[in-house]
Amino acid sequence: MAGSRSDAPVVIAVAITGSVPRKADNPAVPVTVAEQIESTHRAFEAGATLCHIHVRNDDETPSSDPDRFAAVQEGLRRHCPGMIVQFSTGGRGRDPASRGLSLQHRPDMASLSTGSVNFPTIVYENSASLVSDLAGQMKQHGVRPEIEIFDLSHLHGAKRLVDAGLIDARPHVQFVMGVQNAMPAEEHLLDILLAETKRILPDATWTAAGIGRYQAVVMDWALTRGADAVRTGLEDNIRVTKDRLAASNAELVGLAAEAVSRHGRRVATPAEARAALGLA
Ligand code: MG
Repeated sequence: MAGSRSDAPVVIAVAITGSVPRKADNPAVPVTVAEQIESTHRAFEAGATLCHIHVRNDDETPSSDPDRFAAVQEGLRRHCPGMIVQFSTGGRGRDPASRGLSLQHRPDMASLSTGSVNFPTIVYENSASLVSDLAGQMKQHGVRPEIEIFDLSHLHGAKRLVDAGLIDARPHVQFVMGVQNAMPAEEHLLDILLAETKRILPDATWTAAGIGRYQAVVMDWALTRGADAVRTGLEDNIRVTKDRLAASNAELVGLAAEAVSRHGRRVATPAEARAALGLA
C-alpha cells in the first residue's frame, strides 16, 4: 500500500464539526458557516490539508442543506488555497435521501460509509443500495470518496464498489476506532484491518481515526505503520487531556503535527496532500 513508504509526507485531516450538539463542555466547536471557515483557516495554518465538513441548521441540528456546504467550500477555497474539501455524507440526524445532495457542488472528496454499524445510541444505517447510490453520485460528480471503515465487513463493501466499477482501485480508506458499540480502539485490530486491506485493496491509501480519548493513541499506531494521513479535529475529540478541553481545531492539528515529527516524518503541503490522495 502507498503508506508503506514511511518517508512520505503525512496528510493532516481535520474534522472541524461533528453532529453532537454544541454544549457548555465543547464551546470551541464551530457551528455557523463563518465560524467553520475561521476555524478551518487557523487549522490550515497549523498544517491541516484536508477538511472534513458537516454543516448545521440554524438550531444547530445536523443539516443536509447543499447551500451551506457550498458556502463553507467557497470560504475554504478563498482562504485555504489548495486545501482538500471533503463533505460528509454521514447519517447522524439526516434523512438518507438527502445525504448526497451536497455532492452537486463537487467537493474534492466526500466520506462514504460502506456498511451499517451500531453507534452509541443509534444504528448507523447504510444499506447496500444506499451505499451504491451514494458511490454512483460521487462518480457522476467526479468526487473522490474516503471510505469509512467502522467494521471489517466495510472493507469488503469497498471492494464490491471497486468490482462494480463505482470507485477506482486506489481508494482512500479510513479506519474508525473507539466509537462506543462499534470497533474498539485496539492496536491488534488495526493490524488485522491493514492485512485485509493489503490483501483485497492493495493500492489503497489509508488513515485511522481514534474517537474521543483514543485520538492520540490511534494516531501513533497509524504513524508507526506508515499511514498516508492522520485525522484529528473537534468532531472526534474535544479534549487535549482528561482535564483540559481543546481550545480549537488548530490546537489539535498542532498536536498532530508534533506526532508526525516524532515519527520522523513531515507534514504534507496542500500539493503533496493532493498527490498522495490521487487528486488533481
Ligand atoms: Mg464525520
